[in-house]
Amino acid sequence: PSVGVVRETGADERRVALVPKVVASLSNKGVGVVVEAGAGLGALIPDELYREAGATVGDAWACDVVVKVAPPSDAEVAKLRAGQMLIGFLAPRNADNQIGALAAAGVTAFAVEAIPRISRAQVMDALSSQANVAGYKAVLVAASESTRFFPMLTTAAGTVKPASVLVLGVGVAGLQALATAKRLGGRTTGYDVRPEVAEQVRSVGAQWLDLGIDAAGEGGYARELTDAERAEQQQALEDAIKGFDVVITTALVPGRPAPRLVTAAAVEGMKPGSVIVDLAGETGGNCELTEPGQTIVEHGVTICSPLNLPATMPEHASELYSKNVAALLELMLDENGALEPDFSDEILSGARVTRSKENS
Ligand code: NAD
Repeated sequence: PSVGVVRETGADERRVALVPKVVASLSNKGVGVVVEAGAGLGALIPDELYREAGATVGDAWACDVVVKVAPPSDAEVAKLRAGQMLIGFLAPRNADNQIGALAAAGVTAFAVEAIPRISRAQVMDALSSQANVAGYKAVLVAASESTRFFPMLTTAAGTVKPASVLVLGVGVAGLQALATAKRLGGRTTGYDVRPEVAEQVRSVGAQWLDLGIDAAGEGGYARELTDAERAEQQQALEDAIKGFDVVITTALVPGRPAPRLVTAAAVEGMKPGSVIVDLAGETGGNCELTEPGQTIVEHGVTICSPLNLPATMPEHASELYSKNVAALLELMLDENGALEPDFSDEILSGARVTRSKENS
């Protein structure tokens, strides 16, 4: 089969779906990889490196399987034809996704977001690989916006207290944020509505903030809080947040607007010079004052809402994503190396978000 690696066209999207190292291992398994000219440039990978890895540079959109990072635009959907397969982030829970258009075009599309979160699928888990990048980078954004040190310093000119860092929502991104803030010397605390997270928070050297609200939902995700729970949570957080120099928020509920954890009053209660980094901007933000994509200052507190942080680290983000994509691709190959996805496999049936005539 042939696999096409296309050039991402979204503004600021610098990642690429397959890096040369992974292309080489796919080529060794008999997969022909075609790369669109310049596909790797955002991640600093010239076409030449793809050729050396065994790929050809050409019409990637004509391959049996097209692999991408960001959801396709209208123009990109128009380049696909019936019978082709597409793998990428397809935003299946966003109202304005392209899944209907892909189905109408007869494309069999696999959304990496829809891969079931079972242990066998961990190697394909692109949500996790990219959330790790976002959690790490969020701490660097916070440190660079902060007017204070993260580590404790003992110097001839005096002693500096370590920054206190609170992470709200401790999934994959939040756990990486806690670990990264700790490595920078911060004093870390984590909070989540899934009680099982307490142990993970402690395992990265952070304190657990217990507000007594249990909202564990299905499949390892959180459920949305009731109005009463939300009011209780916001009030408790308003009190807790006052003492922190840095607050990083990552709370999400699948398919719902981001939960509002940090009210305007909570921001007002923070010391001037404190920093909030809100990773939930894409779904509206965890902080009431967040302006998605902007950095603003309110009551002396800097509130950053960077979008698509994984794209700001295109080299490693692409490398990790490539492994995810290649693992999913390999699952679609039969013992002879032919492209024969077995839809009785829950990973493939879960990830498939369209049904083309041939495959249904
Ligand atoms: P996510 O991105 O959906 O949400 C981030 C965090 O926000 C979650 O921990 C969630 O509990 C929390 N949250 C939601 N509403 C909240 C609220 N009102 N207040 C506070 N926190 C709130 O989550 P994620 O990072 O994708 O991971 C969710 C879980 O899935 C994790 O426990 C992770 O370990 C697990 N997981 C399992 C697998 C696997 O088994 N293959 C793979 C990846 C993740």
